[in-house]
Amino acid sequence: MIDCCFCLQQFHCEPMEIASSVTGVTVSYYTCPSCLSIHQHPLPDQQTLQGYYEQYEMIKEKMNPGYLEEDNYTPLACERAQTFHELGFSRDNLFNENHVELGCANGHFLRFLKEQGAVDITGIDISSDLLSKITVPNIKRINGGLDKIAPDSVDNLYLFNILEHIPDPQGTLDHAARIMKPESSLIIEVPLAGYISSRFKNRWRFLMPNEHLHLPSVNGLIKILDRYGYYIAAETRFGSGFTTGMIPGFIKKRADSVAKMLGIGDRGAFLCKFR
Ligand SMILES: [Zn+2]
Repeated sequence: MIDCCFCLQQFHCEPMEIASSVTGVTVSYYTCPSCLSIHQHPLPDQQTLQGYYEQYEMIKEKMNPGYLEEDNYTPLACERAQTFHELGFSRDNLFNENHVELGCANGHFLRFLKEQGAVDITGIDISSDLLSKITVPNIKRINGGLDKIAPDSVDNLYLFNILEHIPDPQGTLDHAARIMKPESSLIIEVPLAGYISSRFKNRWRFLMPNEHLHLPSVNGLIKILDRYGYYIAAETRFGSGFTTGMIPGFIKKRADSVAKMLGIGDRGAFLCKFR
């Protein structure tokens, strides 16, 4: 039996076998029949995960060339600014409050925060190698997880494309609820199982062995957030299911805007608050 960490349903179903184009390893993914979230099962052990992220720069270079490089900073900054705008997350939040990003990698978003005028910034990552490559001045770096942050101390917590990488999303949200202040904001961006994943099936671009472990549906995300006291105050969607390079750029652009318009995009950003 598989436990859905989003809706808590126990289930069994036919797996989708997916081979990694980078590491060659094959894993099984299962779709929860209750909330339609997708889970890798079994999960990789700690040693496999650690090894994966030690070579993350090489892996990303093969899968998503340029992702961690300087040239990607400007498009990323534009995307984050647009996401903040669409979520109604005001720049006023940035100046006097503190900011913690989990999964900061080599710090592109931390640099964005700094350039927007934020002062008190902390980046957390499990890769000491990536942390050592952050060039943003006067920020705190933590090698590890949210367990290293003091209770009731955070104004803004950012989880950009990280929740799906975490073996135990419930443990992470439990820590998030512990460290966040009552009026604080949690911003989550995550690939979303749903209409597009069900159409693409085993060709869905976000099935990435040992990297994407739990992919929530919107329903599944609402359920897990609810258990830790959060509700979704605002959301935005993007992505058409196609990765850059799969189809001609002008078709991707049109498909992306249709997906956004219909609210079926397979990536979403959510502004979450405590009830
Ligand atoms: Zn479920």
